[in-house]
Amino acid sequence: MTDTSADLVILGGGSGGYACAFRAAELGLSVILVEKDKVGGTCLHRGCIPTKALLHAAEVADNAREGDQFGVKSSLEGIDIHGVNSYKDGVVAGLYKGLQGLFKANKVTVVEGTGRFVGPNSVEVDGTRYTGKNVVLATGSYARSLPGLEIGGRIITSDQALNLDYVPQKVVVLGGGVIGVEFASVWRSFGAEVTIVEALPRLVPAEDEWASKQLERAFRKRGIKFKTGVRFTGATQDGSGVSVSLESGESLEADLLLVAVGRGPNSAGHGFEEAGLNLERGFVLTDERLRTNLPGVYAVGDLVPGLQLAHRGFQQGIFIAEDIAGQNPKVIDEAGIPRVTYCKPEVASVGLTEAQAKEKYGSAETLVYALSGNGKSQILKTSGGVKLVKSPEGPVVGITLVGERVGELIGEAQLIYSWEATPEDVAPLVHAHPTQNESLGEAFLALAGKPLHVHG
Ligand SMILES: Cc1cc2nc3c(=O)[nH]c(=O)nc-3n(C[C@H](O)[C@H](O)[C@H](O)COP(=O)(O)OP(=O)(O)OC[C@H]3O[C@@H](n4cnc5c(N)ncnc54)[C@H](O)[C@@H]3O)c2cc1C
Repeated sequence: MTDTSADLVILGGGSGGYACAFRAAELGLSVILVEKDKVGGTCLHRGCIPTKALLHAAEVADNAREGDQFGVKSSLEGIDIHGVNSYKDGVVAGLYKGLQGLFKANKVTVVEGTGRFVGPNSVEVDGTRYTGKNVVLATGSYARSLPGLEIGGRIITSDQALNLDYVPQKVVVLGGGVIGVEFASVWRSFGAEVTIVEALPRLVPAEDEWASKQLERAFRKRGIKFKTGVRFTGATQDGSGVSVSLESGESLEADLLLVAVGRGPNSAGHGFEEAGLNLERGFVLTDERLRTNLPGVYAVGDLVPGLQLAHRGFQQGIFIAEDIAGQNPKVIDEAGIPRVTYCKPEVASVGLTEAQAKEKYGSAETLVYALSGNGKSQILKTSGGVKLVKSPEGPVVGITLVGERVGELIGEAQLIYSWEATPEDVAPLVHAHPTQNESLGEAFLALAGKPLHVHG
């Protein structure tokens, strides 16, 4: 029989919930985790992993189509979407199997079913009450829509977009944030005509303005259309298509409308309000140690206001387990969490944008190093650059990169930011040639006043 009490009861087995479970188990705590669907949550089944598999298939398609740029005779015969889906599903299935193995190895008890927080320290599933010395709420998020815009048929969210059994010919993407630009990028590589509609003045509006400009330029070159600073007013659909109307009076016809306007907290109907939890716009409020207003009750991941990223959930989950175990972990710096938008080209950043740094410090020094000076980027035929933002006190407080594959470079940028390194600290560190990573080294050389491959 399953135990009904443990040191820790976790509601939700996504990135935040399972990371907390594993770390708690490593620290010798007993853990019960309640999950209504599949452990791994959004990231593994409907988020990070399947989208990146699609983006990789998109890159393969671009390579086939563009072989002649490199003197290779190749052409794109077409997209076998069933083949793409089976490759994507295979990656997810393999990781899911591995994750289930980790649950067993860590001896975490998984209760299958929909849980309800009944406070002060219990979760009820199908009439059984599971009580923990501590409870962690980790129910994640869902794809939001706009008032009056009902999801169904040709109006879809990322959940449906991941499992289409055809390649649309014409798509409108509502929302130019991370999820919107990633799907726009995939569908364009698969041959679709894509238009992004964004109410704010620029694509990826949470990023440094410089990055938005770089991305917009690259998207224009790829034939991805976008309308920024324009509000959506409505959509209608029938058997042949969807018609999307904009505040400007214009209407756009397409096969599909992808609604990518952000994700809301999944906090309704789980007993949170009734138990007396402090909520704001549905998000569970916590202090910097992720403690809610109820003693012994923590919240983690997309449910908590802030960046909705899997690795933030992992780190918060680890933090909570260590806090409960009395290890007094260091508070997580939200600005130090790396952010990557995986479209073509990629946008990767850590720390502050130029505008944020100026607001915080009154002024900021910036430097942009263009990838045109970077050998490996020229070999790959990618453009973009590295932007550094330095505080008047010395350390670099923001790093943003744009270009194909630059997401892989964010690790070093994150260390530089987190260790509060100055340009003089980083400039002497040798970067391998020819790598794209070298562009980061060159940017720091230039900011330290000793530029090497800098034109103009
Ligand atoms: C299309 C897309 C692409 C993304 N790409 C990236 C990316 O590249 N990198 C990145 O870092 N992040 C990405 N994300 C975000 C990432 O998926 C989330 O930040 C992450 O999954 C949040 O983890 P979580 O544990 O808070 O919630 P979730 O992963 O949503 O997990 C919550 C879990 O709780 C369960 N649950 C909910 N209510 C109950 C209940 N009452 N009882 C029992 N179980 C319940 C759910 O079934 C789910 O398994 C992407 C998201 C999307 C949608």
